[in-house]
Parts: sequence; C-alpha cells; structure tokens
Amino acid sequence: MSVAARTFDYVVLGAGSGGMASARRAASYGAKVAVIENGRYGGTCVNVGCVPKKVMWNTASIAEALRDARGYGFDVSPNVAFSWAAVKAKRDAYIKRLNGIYENNLKKEGVEMINGTASFVSNNRIKVNDEIIEGKHILIATGSKAWIPSVPGAAEFGETSDGFFELEDLPKKVAIAGAGYIAIEMAGILRTLGAEVSLYIRQSEFLRSFDKIIRDGVMDEYQKLGINVVKTSGITKVESLPAAAGMRKNLRLTITNKDTLAVTVEENVEMLLWAVGRDANTDKLNLGATGVTLNEKGFVIVDEYQNTKAANVYAVGDICGVEMLTPVAIAAGRRLSDRLFGGKTGSKLDYDNIPSVIFSHPTCGSVGLSEQAAVAKYGKDKIKVYESKFTNMYYTLVDHKVPTHYKLVCLLPEEKVVGVHLFGRGSDEILQGFAVAVKMGATKADFDNTVAIHPTAAEELVTMR
Ligand SMILES: Cc1cc2nc3c(=O)[nH]c(=O)nc-3n(C[C@H](O)[C@H](O)[C@H](O)COP(=O)(O)OP(=O)(O)OC[C@H]3O[C@@H](n4cnc5c(N)ncnc54)[C@H](O)[C@@H]3O)c2cc1C
Repeated sequence: MSVAARTFDYVVLGAGSGGMASARRAASYGAKVAVIENGRYGGTCVNVGCVPKKVMWNTASIAEALRDARGYGFDVSPNVAFSWAAVKAKRDAYIKRLNGIYENNLKKEGVEMINGTASFVSNNRIKVNDEIIEGKHILIATGSKAWIPSVPGAAEFGETSDGFFELEDLPKKVAIAGAGYIAIEMAGILRTLGAEVSLYIRQSEFLRSFDKIIRDGVMDEYQKLGINVVKTSGITKVESLPAAAGMRKNLRLTITNKDTLAVTVEENVEMLLWAVGRDANTDKLNLGATGVTLNEKGFVIVDEYQNTKAANVYAVGDICGVEMLTPVAIAAGRRLSDRLFGGKTGSKLDYDNIPSVIFSHPTCGSVGLSEQAAVAKYGKDKIKVYESKFTNMYYTLVDHKVPTHYKLVCLLPEEKVVGVHLFGRGSDEILQGFAVAVKMGATKADFDNTVAIHPTAAEELVTMR
C-alpha cells in the first residue's frame, strides 16, 4: 500500500541562518512549514562560524588588554596563565544552549523539524529518511563548506576552520593557507594567544576586495605582531612526520614560490589550516532531478527575487555564492517569505552597500565601494577621497601602539559618500551606523553637519578635511 506524501506549503532544506529565518517568517504568516536538517540547528554561523569565532576573538582581545594593562598601571604578569580548554568548554556549552533555543523557536512557530539529509526527487518532491515530502514551494538553504585543494596530503593532514573549533589546546606552530577574512581572523586569534603563525598567500596582498587602507593596515600590523606572511606562495605537499611527546601533529610542508618556483620546507607544524575558499553544499541534493542551474563555480543561480531556474524552487545564503554572510542569508530568507506568504509581492533583498567587518587585530570594516572600485566605476575625476590616519587615544599610555586609518570615498559633484573604510580599534562597532548613512545616500556635507562625539575615534569621520 503506498502512503501519500506529506505536503507542506514550504519545505526548507537546511536549518542554518537563511533557512531558519525564512521558515520562521513563513510560519508567522500561517504557512505550513517543514525544515530538513542533517546537522546541528543554527548551521555554520552558530556551530562553526561567526559565534565560536567571536568567542575566540574576544578571548584574544582579552589577551591584548592584559598586554596593555601595565600601561594603565595594572601590575599584570606578562605570563598570566591561560586555559584554551576552559574557554572551549564554556564556548561549546554556550553553543549547545543556542542549538536548543533555535529548535525551540521553530517548535513555537509550529514548524515541522525533520532530521535527515534532503535530496530532490523532482522540482516539488524531496526524499528524506526514505520518506517523500511534497512542497508547494521549496527553499534550498544548505550553505557552503570549506574547500581543500588537491595537493598531496592536503586533506589527509590538513584541517579547515571546522578543525579550528575542535582544537582542545593552543597549537604551538600553525600554518594557514588563504587570503580571505577567515584566514586573517584565524591567524590573528592564534597569534595573539601565543602561537607561531605562518600565513601563506598566493598573491602579494591579502583581502584583495577590500580598500588599500585595510589591506595595508592589516598587513603591517600582522607583520608587527610576528605573523610570518609568505607572499606569492603555495603549499604544494603535506607530509606527516613522527610527533615528539606533547606535539599535536608534526607536519612537513613543501612550499613553492609562485613566481620564482623556489622550494622551501617548513617542519614541526602542529596544525595546517586551509582557508582558501568555500564550495556550495549541493552534493547530496540530487539537483539533476530539478531544473535548478549552477554557475561555473557550482553555486546555485538565482534572480534578484531568489528564484532558481526551477518553478517554485528558491535559494538563499551561501549556496548562492554571493555576499556569504549570515545577515545576508537571514535578510534574503525573510524577504522571500514576505513575498511568498506575506503578500509583499515586490519584497527582495537589495545587495548594494552591504557592510562587512573583519575581526582582525585590530578590527576593520567597509561599506560601499573601495577607492579602486569607485574609480573603476565612475572615473578618477568623479571621485574625491578623504583620509585620516592617527593613533587612538587608548594607546597613549601603552607601549604597543596600533594606528587607526579611515577613508571616505565620495562621488562628485555632490560628494555623495559611496564608500566608508575603517581600520583600527573599534571599527567593528563603529561601522554599522555609518552603513545606515551610506544606504540613505548621505553626502560629505551630511557627515560634516553631524556634531562629533568627543573623545572618540569615530569623531574623525565627521571632521575630515
Ligand atoms: C569560520 C567562519 C566564520 C564566519 N564568520 C562570520 C561572521 O563573523 N559574520 C558573518 O556574517 N558571517 C560569518 N561567516 C559566514 C556565515 O557563517 C555564513 O554566511 C552563513 O552561515 C550562511 O548561512 P546559510 O543559511 O546559507 O548556510 P548555513 O548556515 O551553513 O546552513 C546550512 C545548513 O544546511 C544543512 N545541510 C546541508 N546540506 C543538507 C542536506 N542535503 N539536507 C539537510 N540539511 C543540509 C547544514 O547542516 C547546515 O546546517 C563565517 C563562516 C565561517 C566558516
């Protein structure tokens, strides 16, 4: 006897940032919603992304504050004991609590939670745990995973950011491959907490989509922190050697200079971390059974309303490969549900001027166009740039001084602010408000008409000449 498939108004694949937000918003309009998840609720951000990363960045920031404390008269020993294991235990417990909160939120909204791996049978049918689920609308929100290059030993002996969050102790010597924000953040945390860190980058700069003040600022500061930035390099072989007592691993890396082809070797590496890009989580979805199409990098192609090429199948978040950030996945997911179930027919996410911050040491962040992107878009004669470089008052009493550097990119003739770029202590918290101003189309005159808050670093943004 065949059992009729359960039918839902909305079937959401993946209970991460985008899927959870979209499912809950749809349920709030009375839609009958099912979410299918094959891992932990909350997805990458909560379990192996933003949340545990920020806890570790906070930990590193406390190490920095202890370093600076002597300058402010505190008799802090330079060798204050630190327990990575203690932080990890508390961090894991916090995340477990969050997993529970996320599950409860779905329950409260009446969303059906199905644990299992989803795969398409057709455009409107999903197979999970040998059951067929039918959806009038289906959302793909299955996110992304770290990519590991096909270098000998890379996958066998190397790890990704997921492995970073499993670490039970601080590794003494770490090699990181990658030039994006995840590589930069992991390098900063590990170095600040005391690890010896080498960062291998393919070009001569990292964070290449960011403005020059950020690229240069982070590079200078990381080199001052003692991070060994190895430019124009690639790890071409990874081997495992016998590890001495107390060593987590003993890896031997072969490194090839991209330009000169010179080969060097690094040994006694306790952790090799790949942060060289992310792949779409499509492998289990059986997208061949649908009309969904992928771009050349394997990410799902959607239009501005998050529609895929298949009728009533949508995608949001990392799976689409653009602006791979939690608030983007959430905002796109909510707007999609507003459109499908809330009667807001024109609802869609505007992907312009999305602010982003890097939790480096110090932090930095950007909204809008970098100077180079603005010049490329409008021409050099249409762009006017204001810059301010100074030492934040915080550092007056401490030995380790870190510069702050701000830049406003303005479009002539009205000097509309089309880019705000911040490098320096507190940038992570300062940027959000300025992102509102940029989104509203503020001009330099609007910035100047705002009375400064003194004494702060941010006041420089409304007093630039
Ligand atoms: C180390 C790191 C740090 C980060 N830091 C930040 C940050 O500071 N700020 C920020 O905004 N973003 C950050 N991000 C990015 C952010 O985590 C992602 O952009 C966000 O999680 C994407 O949400 P999503 O809903 O698209 O996917 P995810 O949150 O990854 O959710 C996808 C879910 O789908 C599930 N799934 C996959 N395949 C299937 C299947 N076939 N069946 C059922 N379930 C499936 C997965 O288990 C997962 O739970 C970070 C990412 C990393 C890796």
